[in-house]
This record gives sequence, C-alpha cells and structure tokens, in this order.
Amino acid sequence: VNYLLFEDPDIKKILEHYRIIWALGHAGSLMSWDMETYMPEEGVQERALASREISLLSQKLLLDEKFVELVEKASVKENLNEYERGVVRVLERRIRIYKKLPPELVGELAKTRVEAQNVWKNARAKNDFSMFKPYLEKAFELARKVAEYLEYDDEPYDALIDLYEEDMRTKMVVQMFDSIIPELKKALDKVLNEENSLYPRTHPLEERKYVREEIEKLNRRILDTLGFPWSRGRLDVSPHPFTDDLGIKDVRITTRYEGFDFKRTVYATIHEFGHALYELQVDERFMATPLAGGVSLGIHESQSRFWENIIGRTMAFVKILSKLIEEASPSLGKIGIEELYSYVNTVKPSLIRVEADELTYNFHILLRFNLERMLLNKEINVDELPEYWNNMMDEYLGIKPKTFSEGVLQDIHWSGIMIGYFPTYSLGNVIAAQIRHYLQKDLGELSEVIMEEKLKLIKEWLKEKIHKYGSLYKPQELLEKSFGEPMNPEYFKEYINEKFVAKKIV
Ligand code: MG
Repeated sequence: VNYLLFEDPDIKKILEHYRIIWALGHAGSLMSWDMETYMPEEGVQERALASREISLLSQKLLLDEKFVELVEKASVKENLNEYERGVVRVLERRIRIYKKLPPELVGELAKTRVEAQNVWKNARAKNDFSMFKPYLEKAFELARKVAEYLEYDDEPYDALIDLYEEDMRTKMVVQMFDSIIPELKKALDKVLNEENSLYPRTHPLEERKYVREEIEKLNRRILDTLGFPWSRGRLDVSPHPFTDDLGIKDVRITTRYEGFDFKRTVYATIHEFGHALYELQVDERFMATPLAGGVSLGIHESQSRFWENIIGRTMAFVKILSKLIEEASPSLGKIGIEELYSYVNTVKPSLIRVEADELTYNFHILLRFNLERMLLNKEINVDELPEYWNNMMDEYLGIKPKTFSEGVLQDIHWSGIMIGYFPTYSLGNVIAAQIRHYLQKDLGELSEVIMEEKLKLIKEWLKEKIHKYGSLYKPQELLEKSFGEPMNPEYFKEYINEKFVAKKIV
C-alpha cells in the first residue's frame, strides 16, 4: 500500500501496525458475511470460537503499548495534515473505548453474538420467545456492563448510542423524535382518513406471487441501472438483507425473496445499494487505513434511505422501474406508472419494521428506543418485554402483534447485542431528507434529475458531499462541512408534508 496522503513518519508507522488490525477486521467481515449467507448450520460453534479469538487479538493489537504511545505522540504534533489528524482521531477513539473494556468482556460479546444470533434465527422461525429469552437477558446484561465500563453522561444508553453514532446522546435523540413524531402523526391520520388516497392502505399487487428467477433478474437490472460495479461487489440472499464492506473495492449486499409482494425485495435491494455506494465511493487513498469505511450508522442509514425512499419512491424512479419490470418479468408484465407509484407508496400501520412505509417507520424505531432504555435502566425486565412491546405498538400505531415473530422477535439487532443501534435509522431518515434539500439546491428538482442518464450526477454529488470523506470527520462535523449546518429535522418534516399532506407528487 502506498499511503499517499500520509507523510509524517510516526503516522506511517501507525498505519503499518494498523494494517494488521485492519486485516483482522477484513477477515471478520468476511466471516460474518459468510455466516449470514453460506455457512452450514453446524459451523456456528467453531465460528463463535474463532470470532472470539479474532476480537481479542484485535483488541490486543490496538492496545499494544508501543502503538498506543505512537498514537499519543502523534496526537500532540502540530504539523499533521488533515488526513493524518483524521487517523489520530479515529484511533484515539477506538483506543479509548477498548482500553475501558476488559478483554473477557470483549471475547464474551463476540462469542455471545454468534451463539445468540443462531438461537434467535430458530426462535423466530418457531415463534418461541422462551427459547430466545435467556440470550436476550444476557444481551442486555452485557450491554449494561459495556455502558458501565465506558461510563456515560445521563443514562447507560448514552454510552451505547455513542458506539454507533459518535457524540450522539440520548437526549438529542429524544429531541429529534419530539420534533418529527407529532408531524408524522398528523400526516398519517390525514392519509388514513382520505378516500381515494394517492397512498392507499393496501394494493392488489401486494398479494401477487412472482417467479423468483424473474425478480432476481429485475434486482440485477435495477443495480445495473443504478451503476452497481459488479467487479467490486456481489448480490446474494440472506434472511435479513444487509451490506458488508470488506473494503473500498469489495462490498457485498444481500436481499431476500418471499415469493410475493415484489416491492419488498426490490426496495431492500435499493436500500442496500445505498449502503454499498457509500463504501464504494470512499477516497481510494484511504484503503486499509482507519479512515476507510463510512463514519457512522446514522450517516450510513441516510444513504440507504436516500436511495430507497427519496429516490426510489418518486414518480421519476417509478418510471424507470416500470420499464425494468417489463423487461425482466414477463409474468408481471406491464404495470401502469400511477398504479406502480401507489403500490410502492402504500401507507398503513403494520407490524414489521423493515416493511414499514415512510410515515409509520419512525414509530417502530421510537418503540425500540423506548424499550431498550427501559430495559437498560431496569424499569422493566425481559419477561415483561412482549407485553410492553404489544401495548406500545397499540399506542403508537393502533395494532397489536399476534405472534412473537411479528413482535419482539422480528429484528436481528438484540441477538447481535447491537443495543443503541436502532435510533440511527431515524437519524438516517432525517439526514436523508436534509441531503435531498441540499441536492435539489445544487442540481435542481429531483424529478428532473432522476433519469437513467443523470443518475451519475447524483452519485457524483453524494461522493463529493459525503462518501469520499470516509471516517475523516465526525458525523455532525461532516454535515456542517458539507451543508453548513448539523443534523436538522426541519427538512424531513418539510418532505413529509410536501409528499403526504400537500400531496405533491415528488
Ligand atoms: Mg440499512
């Protein structure tokens, strides 16, 4: 590797040592991608063990005395360039975190993740909460320990959310929800009470079965159109769609096929494309350094939601989609543009987060955010969780799950001990709308820009404003640098009102 951007001799030494840590991360990424896609079921025991050892080795290398000294020495140097300072910032943060966590806990987390995910998968399939319960208890117990070791400002949640979104605090998330939820409620009530809504509750296409090979082809054609570089990425199948970045030139995405309601797999694919594009457009000179990779989950989710909703659910994109469906799926055939627009924009309270529409989605996050805090603060225990989940669902969206699988067991996060992660989805929604505002300011009305031949302008713009920086700046700093302001929920409210209240076809 030629570290072209890095001249300081200490930084060069730091990067050389870091490359080993990076390589372990690379291997770990491949292992977790494999676990979700091709690993045979009984591989789980050895995978858990290997995963534990790799995490421990990685922590050990990060806390290596000479390495830590080098980073400390570099941190007080005054003549570092911007990139060198970025390297120091990212590493100081990681060292600070890993110094506080005892190796036994780090190993236990890695091992439990693999085991709990495996149990969760089966528990969800069997609708058996009692099977998963002990692991869920352990997950929250471990998360609580992590928070205690890391220390926090007001409540344990502060320490956990900071792991996914640097400098984010619980009260800032509360403020964000306080700002958007009443507006969403108003818009939702309005849409649900309208007759002949542009955004109907249900659509006949939701029942429609599809030929899997045709929709696989459709997803590939969509990715072709969006410009997914197949020489640097793959599309596979997994129970929960995800993106795994092995590096700037190797990004894997997955989708899933349920056999009916094709918008689910199509929009999951577009969502993951958004994540992938972020990683693929990071400055290549950051390769194998701490600056490679998206800076936070909130920024990451802003990219996926941007492509899924802000681009993907517009009339302009629907026109492109309609053409691709006609080409790829003879059995679905020609679907009228207006019909397709309504189909991909149905609005109704539903139980499954990943399938929720733009108006109800954030209620699912608010629910998880509240329950996670209550569990961490020991206001409720895991036994009571399903009951609280169901009642809160009823309070927010007026519906109650009938099974555990469509309630508490639906998401992968708790089995992965990713507690504090959920709010980043709502941050992503809010930031995506902010990006839309600034993109339109620079490139003009989206409806004029979303055309096959112009999509590259959008990608280029995103690269310049967000992607190329990788982890160079903290999330809020990045927004300030690119847009002159930190996260601002006003644009999301504006977007919601424009699309769903004023019913302007966007
Ligand atoms: Mg995502």
